[in-house]
Amino acid sequence: MRNKEMSEALVCNGCGRTLLQKNGIYREDFADLRKKWGYFSRKDTQNHRIVLCENCYDRLTGLLALPPQIEEETELLAL
Ligand SMILES: [Zn+2]
Repeated sequence: MRNKEMSEALVCNGCGRTLLQKNGIYREDFADLRKKWGYFSRKDTQNHRIVLCENCYDRLTGLLALPPQIEEETELLAL
């Protein structure tokens, strides 16, 4: 079964590389950042989306004054 989301070819905004997919499933994880800009911005009514592969995510977050907030997720494995 394929759905639209899974078969969408995503390109990393950082390096322009198409993310690896096989049979409609992503073979690498990536950051999918979405922002709806509001009234107190210069982009009111605009929806922005930035896709970053893991390497670009690390490169760009390295430029920030503070690192991302990180929470460890306890993953439950379905056996
Ligand atoms: Zn990239």
